[in-house]
Amino acid sequence: MGILEGKTALVFGLANERSIAWGITQAMHAQGAKIGISYAGEALERRVRPLAAAVGCAFVEACDVSKDADIAVVAAKAGAAFGQIDILIHSIAFAVRDELNGPYYNTSREGFRTAMDISVYSFVALARAFQPWMRRGGAMLCMTYYGAEKVVPHYNVMGVAKSALEASTRYLAYDFGPQGVRVNAISAGPIRTLAAAGVSGFKDMYRQFAEMAPLRENITTEDVGNAAVFLCSDMAAHITGEVLYVDSGYNIMGVPEPPTKE
Ligand code: NAP
Repeated sequence: MGILEGKTALVFGLANERSIAWGITQAMHAQGAKIGISYAGEALERRVRPLAAAVGCAFVEACDVSKDADIAVVAAKAGAAFGQIDILIHSIAFAVRDELNGPYYNTSREGFRTAMDISVYSFVALARAFQPWMRRGGAMLCMTYYGAEKVVPHYNVMGVAKSALEASTRYLAYDFGPQGVRVNAISAGPIRTLAAAGVSGFKDMYRQFAEMAPLRENITTEDVGNAAVFLCSDMAAHITGEVLYVDSGYNIMGVPEPPTKE
């Protein structure tokens, strides 16, 4: 029997089979969770529907998280379809490509607003919309990155957004604590996804990551999925407001290993 048997998980942010949301969906399905999926908009439907079918998911709803009306509709539909919800996954981020290049001080007001709205505020908005439907013992989870804490060249406004997302995770954990619902974040190492492709210099950074990380390996969406299962299961019953690194240990390093002399 899977450790999520009897639980319902609603996953936001599935774009394709490379998405972190897909790694999480598969891992949760494998552990017995009943899955609901939400994706950004019509353009993705063709890719998302077959993936949903592969995990026996009949609840597949579009939702642009920058629109309160979309969020309200999907929350009402999910409530009607599932009754209570145990797990809410936020695996969404967006910044205009031009903002992920050049100096951070060139960030435009509109670019800053967009990144914060879609990558941070949407987690707060989803938490509020689903608050009436969350079952005691449930969990919410979002995806963050090390650029929240340290400077990652070109990550720019997304780093600032991820800092705000991690802070939001703590405030939400405080708000939802009395309801018996936990709120955590996973800080994932770099993974080749659609969103990552928008970060300038990502390929080099991805390669260097494996050279510097203690485990000397890149991570996969499967790794993130397994950690998500743990954090959203009863095994993590008293863990809330935390950021869990799934990064082959990269974040513990201060400087890279010096090159060995022949
Ligand atoms: P992804 O497959 O491109 O997923 C990002 C998702 O966000 C896409 O489904 C995207 O839809 C969706 N999205 C963007 N704007 C939206 C909106 N207005 N409404 C609803 N959905 C919207 O990339 P990913 O790497 O798996 O990203 C998932 C999460 O992991 C993000 O929070 C990301 O920052 C985080 N993360 C990624 C990495 C990495 O290296 N890949 C590392 C650490 C953390 P569209 O395709 O339509 O825009």
